[in-house]
Amino acid sequence: MSRIFVLVDWTLRPDREDDAPPTTHRFRCLALHDDDTECGAESEPVTDPVRAQEWPFEHLREHPEHTGFAEIVERPWVMWRGFRA
Ligand SMILES: [Zn+2]
Repeated sequence: MSRIFVLVDWTLRPDREDDAPPTTHRFRCLALHDDDTECGAESEPVTDPVRAQEWPFEHLREHPEHTGFAEIVERPWVMWRGFRA
């Protein structure tokens, strides 16, 4: 009598399917207030990375001392179930 064992592996990879959520870009202000708390203002997420870069300029016009920003990219990934012989 013989037995067959199948090992199941999971692979993590970027989700490029048509129904995957879009990759989005947004910016967060890193400027510190006088009491060392972060401003933390954030732009709305958009799919166009160039359009996302408009927000720091708008924020700077309202707060001329806020010059530090972080770009936040949200890229969908998915776990795929595969088999290893
Ligand atoms: Zn700010």
